[in-house]
Amino acid sequence: MNFEPRPQANTIMQPLTIYNSLSRQKELFKPIKSPFVGLYVCGPTVYSDVHLGNCRTFISFDLLFRYLQHIGYKVRYVRNITDAGHLEGDTDDGEDKISKKAKLEQLEPMEVVQKYTVDFHEVMRTFNVLPPSIEPAATAHIIEQIEMIRQIMTKGYAYEVNGTVYFDVEKYNQQQNYGILSGRKLEDLLENTRELGGQDEKKGRLDFALWIRAEGKHLMQWPSPWGMGFPGWHLECSAMSNKYLGEKFDIHGGGIDLIPTHHTNEIAQNVACCDENPANYWIHTNMLTVNGQKMSKSLGNSFLPHELFKGTHPLLNKGYSPMTVRFFMLQAHYRSTLDFSNQALEAAEKGLRRLMAAAALLDRIQPGNNSNYDIPALEERCYAAMNDDFNSPVAIAELFDAARVINSINDGKESITAADLERLKKIYKLFLFDIFGLQEEQQTEEGLDESIRILIDLRKEARERKDFATADMIRNRLLEAGFLLHDGKEGTNWSRA
Ligand SMILES: [Zn+2]
Repeated sequence: MNFEPRPQANTIMQPLTIYNSLSRQKELFKPIKSPFVGLYVCGPTVYSDVHLGNCRTFISFDLLFRYLQHIGYKVRYVRNITDAGHLEGDTDDGEDKISKKAKLEQLEPMEVVQKYTVDFHEVMRTFNVLPPSIEPAATAHIIEQIEMIRQIMTKGYAYEVNGTVYFDVEKYNQQQNYGILSGRKLEDLLENTRELGGQDEKKGRLDFALWIRAEGKHLMQWPSPWGMGFPGWHLECSAMSNKYLGEKFDIHGGGIDLIPTHHTNEIAQNVACCDENPANYWIHTNMLTVNGQKMSKSLGNSFLPHELFKGTHPLLNKGYSPMTVRFFMLQAHYRSTLDFSNQALEAAEKGLRRLMAAAALLDRIQPGNNSNYDIPALEERCYAAMNDDFNSPVAIAELFDAARVINSINDGKESITAADLERLKKIYKLFLFDIFGLQEEQQTEEGLDESIRILIDLRKEARERKDFATADMIRNRLLEAGFLLHDGKEGTNWSRA
């Protein structure tokens, strides 16, 4: 990461604004205790492979994490691992997802957790997502969660029935606004929720479980003041953000689908326990669609990261590299829906190649006596885009513009002074590599073959016009790089030397 002092252009740039889901508008970003920033993002449930929608969320917050650090903030980024108590369908009567998977696969629950945590980290590394500062697991914070439930009960917002503790939503809403984040009224929520039946223990139909009584066979259970059980999913984020970032911190993030239930309940729990909405800014990333349809397992149009990389899903024409996918995601603003299609992915692949090629050219182009290009203005526009709610697509468009200029300098059509070239190199690489987190990828065999074939054609043309010096140079340079050319009747082939 680049921790250098901010470039001069930043002193005249507009300040950072963030779209806050709480106020439903862009707001000036003011940390509670600058230069420190507390950031909490809801992490994955490690009972199966991480899906692409989640990857988009974590790539978006990686951009935010990298950028905040670049402009000088010291960020403590907490992203949890949900390894306990996440129920099917987010209701209270389902089966624990992790236990269910464990029974299916004849594994110990923590074996499932370990396997998918390792896989998740691997996928994040492939996408060049920086690890968070702290990655707490729910199962390691049972004591904190029990303590939080006790406090909520003491304040009178929770009640116990037969070993299960429920949050009393209607009572909470008498003093507070339960729908503050979703913008929905309690009456409307009640109307849209099924009525309680005779089997139900809870008092109100919107009440949700903070602690759940474990039935005898339940694989993951812990002792508590209310008997053996396990914590509710919403509670872990409240307890762990509180532990590592305090009662009030700067940014809380997650996918947009978390607004109506998970984040709404998180806020209710923290307010009930500590009289504080835990975060000043709530940031939400939008959904993925495939050919215009919502990505979902039931529609058969949801693919896993490895299916996307290898191109093994029926909807994909071919595989796309992790950097292509990362770049594709950053080319859309995090608050817009992002549509996957072969066409769009292929365009991203070409676009990324163009930006990477320009980065390589930067080290080779020669400065001239005058500049036809205003580098400080480019720099300012890149920062202005990022300061406008992390508008990566606009900043990427600026890099495309710069790439065009780099190419025409290389072609001798435009020129740049040595000082401007240095500044251009710095800003271009800073955004491409450090802020957008893109990396050079190992060329695939297919891509390599394509590149060598181009050189073989050029050599053939040189020989045809009797330019044997160029033809020999191409062959010798390829040999130096480890590739041997074989001339035969059928034309020229190559092998590794
Ligand atoms: Zn959460």
